[in-house]
Amino acid sequence: MQTCKSCFKEIESGALKCSYCQAYQLWYKHPQFYSLIMMLPFFIFIFWNTGLMSNKEFSDFESEFSFTQEKIIDAKSKNRLLITYKVKNDTEYQWDNIRYEIISRNNGELLASESDNNYFWVIRPNSESFLTVNIQIVPNANEWELKIKDLEVSRF
Ligand SMILES: [Zn+2]
Repeated sequence: MQTCKSCFKEIESGALKCSYCQAYQLWYKHPQFYSLIMMLPFFIFIFWNTGLMSNKEFSDFESEFSFTQEKIIDAKSKNRLLITYKVKNDTEYQWDNIRYEIISRNNGELLASESDNNYFWVIRPNSESFLTVNIQIVPNANEWELKIKDLEVSRF
């Protein structure tokens, strides 16, 4: 004989369920536990698809991104320029949390670089998105190269 874990009445030893209160005596024999086990591959699939478990590195996908400089505007305040790039994402993933560097040059000669990030910018799979950066005007600069330092696969 054993004692029911729920109602503490004496029940047959090795019983799966208590004959008085119907409580399952072993947690892993409970039907609800089985349904959780059945759901597990589904959850793994969802987490994998949203990037939670896949942990993709931007450096492995860098060559699938390309940029074109679309517009440069003198911000007319604080000596700053607004440069808009069109970014093309040829990957199957949505990316966000961009960290980038703008390299200012004069006829190819490096003058300065400025780093920043933009947590609001998102680029969808196989699509294009504009990214406007706000940088300090460097005297004599006539080329501004956008370099993405890091991007993350969107988790949600
Ligand atoms: Zn019981």
